[in-house]
Amino acid sequence: MSECLFCGIVEGTINGAVVYRDESVVAFKDINPRAPVHILIVPVKHISTLLDLAEEDQKLVGEIYSVANRLAKEQGIAKDGFRVVANCGAAAGQTVFHIHFHLLGGRSLSWPPG
Ligand code: AMP
Ligand code: ZN
Repeated sequence: MSECLFCGIVEGTINGAVVYRDESVVAFKDINPRAPVHILIVPVKHISTLLDLAEEDQKLVGEIYSVANRLAKEQGIAKDGFRVVANCGAAAGQTVFHIHFHLLGGRSLSWPPG
């Protein structure tokens, strides 16, 4: 069994509220939502941080943004606006070391983030 929480959700050994899945990308609801819509979009492939992305992962990152666009429309936040954010490393607040892109929307989002 994988020791990575998000690998566990991807594999289905850990419960997650999955809202999208294809062969390379999975999206599920954040367990501690910071906005009315807060979804985490992750690659099926385990990659620890953004710094670990390889040249071969360029297509995968594009696919993640395509899923973000699709979910923003499906979740009804596309028109008003939304944010996609990925934290990298301790100072940015990364707590789970399987890269994930937060899709946030459904309220006004302040800038810059804290
Ligand atoms: P980050 O701080 O950028 O690493 O984000 C990690 C996110 O994972 C946080 O927003 C957590 O609320 C979320 N999270 C932690 N455990 C789970 C889980 N079991 N299912 C869904 N989301 C989770
Ligand atoms: Zn993982």
